[in-house]
Amino acid sequence: MNKQIILLPGDGIGREIMDSAKVVLQAVAHEYGHSFTFHQHAIGGDAIDQYGTPLPEETIQACQNADAILLGAVGGPKWDQVAVHLRPERGLLGIRKTLGLFANLRPVKGFQALLHASPIKEEIIQDSDILIIRELTGGLYFGQPSERRDNGNAVVDTLSYTREEMERIIDKAFESARIRNKHLTSVDKANVLESSRLWREVVEEKAKDYPDVTVEHMLVDACAMKLITNPSAFDVIVTENLFGDILSDEASVLTGSLGMLPSASVRSDGVGLYEPVHGTAPDIAGKGIANPLGMILSAALMLRFSFGMEEEASEIEKAVNECLEQGYHTADLRIKDGIQVGTKEMTDKVLENLTAKSISDSICNTYV
Ligand code: ATP
Ligand code: MG
Repeated sequence: MNKQIILLPGDGIGREIMDSAKVVLQAVAHEYGHSFTFHQHAIGGDAIDQYGTPLPEETIQACQNADAILLGAVGGPKWDQVAVHLRPERGLLGIRKTLGLFANLRPVKGFQALLHASPIKEEIIQDSDILIIRELTGGLYFGQPSERRDNGNAVVDTLSYTREEMERIIDKAFESARIRNKHLTSVDKANVLESSRLWREVVEEKAKDYPDVTVEHMLVDACAMKLITNPSAFDVIVTENLFGDILSDEASVLTGSLGMLPSASVRSDGVGLYEPVHGTAPDIAGKGIANPLGMILSAALMLRFSFGMEEEASEIEKAVNECLEQGYHTADLRIKDGIQVGTKEMTDKVLENLTAKSISDSICNTYV
């Protein structure tokens, strides 16, 4: 398959870990006979320095013509004094909005070698494998009016959604559940919110189109509790913007390795933007010690969600797991009796495990 991939390294460690994702993708392309073409563009602080804006027109154009986008991270102390509408983070919000990326997908699945670092008991999280789908472009974060009144002594924020906005995210969730373990938990606050009551109606209507998926409604407070007491009860969780923001951060703690988690922001036609959950880590930027695995796992998600390359994606995930099982880790992770390495060595280990796998496959094939 021929794919055009835009690379937006951004700032801080984003610039150091992007290459790791690129070389891993090149190795996969080589193994599977795909052709990936990479185009690098500026966003965030990097773009402010070069173009005077966090989201230059040429970056927007390039992203509009892309099959998928990989993003490092944006921001950092250097741009703290910049006017709010020109902040590096505006670049990211702007590109999500321009491309209409309404679904935020965050898989939450820990690696065995790192589970000891989770604040939750290992036996509770052992078998958990969750995909959280958060609506990204509506709800309280965008509803109008959002303002101060009464001389600043009263405030109003507006939670607003259209049926259509609910339908597209709920469809996405059913489709995702269908290719996973066929269980969907829809999270709302239908005992108090009108928006949640419409949400439930839409879920019920959509459920008729996906008879193979079991659906359960859960109030957000109950869900918050169950996520840490019985996380393996979940498969796919779908919820609106604010609830999703909170629940996805809560769930990420389960894995014991927040810095390794990937995320995706996608729309219905499969175009998506993929980025690690962590930020620019200004405290370690430029030292060559950043953990590249969140970025590499984001590239795996891109293969899975945007290109439908399930096998290729899981090969990358297996190679990452293998590295950790062998004890290799960056400074932000702890593995008992492990071997601490930098960004480049960690990337090389992933590549070694990827190619070791394909070599053993080809040996097997020779003897079949
Ligand atoms: P931002 O404003 O961009 O989110 P931040 O100051 O919040 O930046 P984060 O990037 O969120 O920093 O990181 C929080 C902490 O985790 C920092 O101490 C950082 O060094 C560490 N960290 C985050 N990502 C990584 C990584 N990929 N490798 C190593 N350490 C990381
Ligand atoms: Mg941060």
